[in-house]
Amino acid sequence: MKVLKFGGTSMADGAALKKVIDIVKADKEAVYIVVSAPGVSSSCEKVTDLLLNVFNNKDNFNKPLERVKERFFAIVNSLGLKFDLDEYFVYFANEIKHGASKDFIVSRGEHLSAMLLANALDYDFVDAKDIIKFDSFSNFDAELTNEVCKEKFKKHKHAVIPGFYGSLPNGEVKTFSRGGSDISGAIVARAVSAAVYENFTDVDGFCASDPRIIKDAKNIEMLTYEELRELSYMGASVLHSMSIFPVRKEDIPIRIRNTFNPSGKGTFIVPTKKFKDGNYTRESRAVTGIAGKREFIAINIEKSLMNEELGFGRRVLSVFEKYNVSFEHMPGSIDSLSIIVDSSDLEKTILNRVVAGIINECNPDNIEIVPDLSLIAVVGHTLSEEIDAISRVSSALAKNNIRIRMINFGASKLNIIVAVDTSNFENALKVLYNEFFS
Ligand code: ASP
Repeated sequence: MKVLKFGGTSMADGAALKKVIDIVKADKEAVYIVVSAPGVSSSCEKVTDLLLNVFNNKDNFNKPLERVKERFFAIVNSLGLKFDLDEYFVYFANEIKHGASKDFIVSRGEHLSAMLLANALDYDFVDAKDIIKFDSFSNFDAELTNEVCKEKFKKHKHAVIPGFYGSLPNGEVKTFSRGGSDISGAIVARAVSAAVYENFTDVDGFCASDPRIIKDAKNIEMLTYEELRELSYMGASVLHSMSIFPVRKEDIPIRIRNTFNPSGKGTFIVPTKKFKDGNYTRESRAVTGIAGKREFIAINIEKSLMNEELGFGRRVLSVFEKYNVSFEHMPGSIDSLSIIVDSSDLEKTILNRVVAGIINECNPDNIEIVPDLSLIAVVGHTLSEEIDAISRVSSALAKNNIRIRMINFGASKLNIIVAVDTSNFENALKVLYNEFFS
């Protein structure tokens, strides 16, 4: 039995949905289907973004809601479905008028998409709020969810489930982070002990590097859960980096497939131990993929005899914790420490407070901010066993005159992380790709 998940562009319009319906109908194993809201279409942005706009204009929501309606009316008409959309939007508008929460509003794209697909396939509709559970601190409750899902799916042999959200103990809707329908699919796959979790997108699989920068980047046929997590956290956007946690409990492989090219091989994401059991083949290269992200800064702190000052690191990190800023890396030496932080949504005022807090708590000799850094992760399951991996990374960059601002190797067995100036980012990615994949 399989769980299939269809992401944004696969759900974008009637034509895409027809392909989804064909894929499901052609596969007897495809019994549980998880869907996202309609994604970017040729003429319009993602429905989830339209819904965010509805929420941001709650007091005057008719116009933004109209755009959401148009998308769904076009789908219903194109598929010739018998579904009362007017009634749905009366209910929805009523909820907004009565103070519906942000999570409720943005989750309605998935809610309605799933209802429509269930109608088209003649499958049951199972609302995610009844099966995906968060605790009162808004943390996802994996074990409770698994129990509830297991029970629920005994009663539904074929079902379509909206991705992206679940509910709090008080019944209120709670969403995952953006792209979270991938996690929902993995949760359902675990609960029903699926043979495979097939995640359909609009690409042929996971690329060995960012195809927007490396045009002919190779498709990765197979990678491990851990490799996936490293690559997706560092910017490879095919699958949400949290998706592996539910399926890992049951060693269920994830397969990335293309709705618009269903005969393609796709990419298998598998538990490490299956490397050796002959079920899957794996290319014998040291590096599986290279991913990178822009928008980091380094906060460099210097203080003589820092190494002898007990609790120095703890005091620095307590300042980050106080201002709710998480750090990515913390390389250090005898009298200095560098904290690398994602600056994409770090407000200037918060950064100033963090710097003031460090001065206050730690009394450093010097503190400097290095802006405009990018991080690149070179990821490979056996990387720590490759004696020349670091030298290949550094000499390839040096030959191309690209200075390494920071390097992190050893903490994880499967990656080397380098920081470079963002002005060198694309070039560095190309250089490293050529080094390991040409
Ligand atoms: N629709 C949501 C988003 O745009 C969730 C998802 O697509 O997985 O983030």
